[in-house]
Amino acid sequence: MKKITIAIDGHSSCGKSTMAKDLARRIGYVYVDTGAMYRSVTLYALRHGIIADGKIDEARLRAEMPNIDISFKFNPVTQRPDTYLNGELVESEIRNMQVSSMVSPIAALGFVRQAMVARQQAMGKEGGIIMDGRDIGTTVFPDAELKIFVTASPQVRAQRRYDELKAKGENCDLAEILRNVEERDYIDSHREVSPLRRADDALLLDNSHMTIGEQNQWLMQRVEEACK
Ligand code: C5P
Repeated sequence: MKKITIAIDGHSSCGKSTMAKDLARRIGYVYVDTGAMYRSVTLYALRHGIIADGKIDEARLRAEMPNIDISFKFNPVTQRPDTYLNGELVESEIRNMQVSSMVSPIAALGFVRQAMVARQQAMGKEGGIIMDGRDIGTTVFPDAELKIFVTASPQVRAQRRYDELKAKGENCDLAEILRNVEERDYIDSHREVSPLRRADDALLLDNSHMTIGEQNQWLMQRVEEACK
């Protein structure tokens, strides 16, 4: 089967990453979670006092961008890649609510996007890659052979994120998570640079009422068709 580029975009917390990781493992492709990259920049900014009281010191962040190294290493136990920030494993920390509440404003900054998109394009230049995010099919790989736009209702997405955080033992509040999901949707689709939108040639996947099995089957059919 020929190796293609698969771009998966969509709303927050609709299971894109889990779906993309599992697909990559099944078909032997490299998986890149671009949300983890924007989350890592946010974590760096929080740790270095570049974000204080919800305000971003843009000049400092711009100057610090070359010092932010983000990499992925395959974890043989989970069978999925883990995210490293300057060599430190941050896979869990980048998913907390503090990072989640600041990541969309960070990802709306043009110079942050420019740096991340350049790294993403370099990672995917050989093909055989599945990348998930918000602008993969529109900006990062506009020529991807298969583009999928994933969504689900905000309530379904908030409940999934709530269950995920609870399972990790985090103290969380469903109403706050729903607010965060809706707020990120709003910022992501209204920002000036690369707003979240479905590429004209992207296939729509609304998984609000789909089981994981049904979703996998749908996905495999699309991959087989795109690889013909
Ligand atoms: O995918 P995830 O929810 O982890 O992404 C976190 C945030 O990073 C999104 O809400 C969005 O603001 C930003 N993002 C982006 N472009 C991408 C991936 C993520 O703006 N390609």
